[in-house]
Amino acid sequence: MATSKEPHDSFGGLKIGNKDTINISLFCELCKLLLLDPIQLLCCGTRLCRWCSKKGLLDSKPFICSFCHTKQEQKQAHADRGAERELNMIKIDCYSCSWNGLYNDYKEHLGQQHAYLQCSDCCEHFFSINLYEEHRQEICEYRSILCELPGCMGLIKWTNIGTHYLCDTHQKMLLEVIIQYIFKHKRLPNKSNCSATITSVVSDMKQELITVQENVNILLPEVECSLNNCTRLKSEHDQIKTTCDNLIQQKNTVGKMIKDDNEKVNKCIQEQNDMEKQIDDTKKLQLYTKTLSLDTDSTMTFSFIKHPHEINLPFSIYSSQFKTSIFGYNFMLRICSTIISGNENQEYLSIYIKLLRGEFDQILLYPFPYNIYLCLCDQSKQKKHIVSMIKPDANLLSFVRPTSEKNNEVGIIKYCPLKLLKDAK
Ligand SMILES: [Zn+2]
Ligand SMILES: [Zn+2]
Ligand SMILES: [Zn+2]
Ligand SMILES: [Zn+2]
Ligand SMILES: [Zn+2]
Repeated sequence: MATSKEPHDSFGGLKIGNKDTINISLFCELCKLLLLDPIQLLCCGTRLCRWCSKKGLLDSKPFICSFCHTKQEQKQAHADRGAERELNMIKIDCYSCSWNGLYNDYKEHLGQQHAYLQCSDCCEHFFSINLYEEHRQEICEYRSILCELPGCMGLIKWTNIGTHYLCDTHQKMLLEVIIQYIFKHKRLPNKSNCSATITSVVSDMKQELITVQENVNILLPEVECSLNNCTRLKSEHDQIKTTCDNLIQQKNTVGKMIKDDNEKVNKCIQEQNDMEKQIDDTKKLQLYTKTLSLDTDSTMTFSFIKHPHEINLPFSIYSSQFKTSIFGYNFMLRICSTIISGNENQEYLSIYIKLLRGEFDQILLYPFPYNIYLCLCDQSKQKKHIVSMIKPDANLLSFVRPTSEKNNEVGIIKYCPLKLLKDAK
């Protein structure tokens, strides 16, 4: 219970000694005292102490403001920062002693010098009815409250309310309430049966409770088992997750390595291609620049490859240059396909030889005096080589000392039917 040296009506703000010198807008519209924890109603801007608003303007739905009479879905208010700023700037005289000072200091002064309100349960002191009532109704841990179950016992300590709800007295009252509720809804015909019905309802409920208890007993081991499984699964899940994380990390590392390797491999392939091209170029260059000499048996082999699909197309292939010896004559061979138009348009392989200008032409004997043997080697087991000879004719311009880069070629047009090559196995 409140003990107070000062009379007070209800909730309220701060009493001060110099009310007349302060702007009227800083006073609560409900308690008419200086605002404490000011709030402002959104509908009309009315300023109230927070606790005054809570206790003096019930938060009904819909809410009708008692100041501006506006109807709203619910009460809407916000902390009044503007009023707080103004309050912090005013100078206040104490209502009870000669102290004066700023608003915040005044609250401290009241707490130290004029806290006449005391909580009977915890003995804490308060200078404002606002703070005192809020403490009594909502904050004090030692306060007593009423059990709201109809017919239940009186005041209970707030800290004991949980225990109270479970106590026999409260539970019996609760059962009574439930039974009354059931009667009310079943509309039992006469009161004489009431006692019997109550017994029957109670016994039914007891039976139901027993069944529930039995079911719980059956389920309990299952639940425990499930809980164990859950724990085990969680631990397995954690392990798998760790492994996964590790694997992902490894995968990323390997992926990066593969990417690096691929880049290197691509670079190598590129370099290899470049080198192969260079080698090809070099080989071609070599073929054109190198002058071959006759072998020790005075022969020169001109090998060529014709694939089956190429043999039907017209062709003409040159050999590289070759010399009869280091200081000898300079020659070049050519083979080609020739069609002799006649009754059957027969195709032949033709072979030509051409005398080229050489370094030692001045000391060599001209016209070229030696017989030239041409041999088409049969590379099958049959060894049916075809051999022909070109005998240099002194009158033939092809064998005179070359006066230009090369003389006209001379050869055998119908060296052999092309069919021989086509049919060769
Ligand atoms: Zn107030
Ligand atoms: Zn209003
Ligand atoms: Zn004072
Ligand atoms: Zn208290
Ligand atoms: Zn109770």
